[in-house]
Amino acid sequence: TNAAFPPYEYKDGDDIVGIDAEIAQAMADKLGLKLEIVDMDFDSLIASIQSGKIDMSLAGMTVTEGRKQNVDFTDSYATGVQVIIVKEDSDIASADDLEGKLIGVQQGTTGHLYCADDFGEDHVNALPNGATAVQALLQGKVDCVVIDQEPAKAFVAENEGLKILDTEYITEDYAIAIAKDNTELLDKVNASLAKLKADGTVQSIIDKYIKA
Ligand code: GLN
Repeated sequence: TNAAFPPYEYKDGDDIVGIDAEIAQAMADKLGLKLEIVDMDFDSLIASIQSGKIDMSLAGMTVTEGRKQNVDFTDSYATGVQVIIVKEDSDIASADDLEGKLIGVQQGTTGHLYCADDFGEDHVNALPNGATAVQALLQGKVDCVVIDQEPAKAFVAENEGLKILDTEYITEDYAIAIAKDNTELLDKVNASLAKLKADGTVQSIIDKYIKA
């Protein structure tokens, strides 16, 4: 995972906690497997799955056609929404106002892909993670940040002078990525995920971190 994406994954002291960490632990318990969480750049997760360095990623990762060329995805376990963070006094009021602006994104995320497609790579400043993108916004180095809604809420709560625009940019599905040749693990993870959804475990983990 990339432990800079609250409330899905973030550091609490030396521990990596959050929705994905708890779902992973619950699946490991169901499957009788030992969970080891490795923290890395979001942008290197898929290559690390392909090379066998890690077995799977839970990282608030959106299912996309492009990623499906390289990894398999489990059934979805959560929904994400791309939102726009701006300074409170910004003249940006909706996605229509992003034309010609400099947009901060997290390198290799769907926010990065969509903004590069819609507004051009020259208008995108790709930062290593959400926290650094938000710092760039606070320092006036970018005009806004496009990022997933729940991390956006966490970053806005931690920093003065920022707001999230009401407009929803894009809605997407989060799923677990697994190597294409590892159908045995894919089937096991899907089976345990189905049980954890059916018995309410997944929803209660989400509700613990995201208040309605
Ligand atoms: N949901 C986004 C994506 O998959 C961002 C995920 C993340 O930064 N952890 O690209």
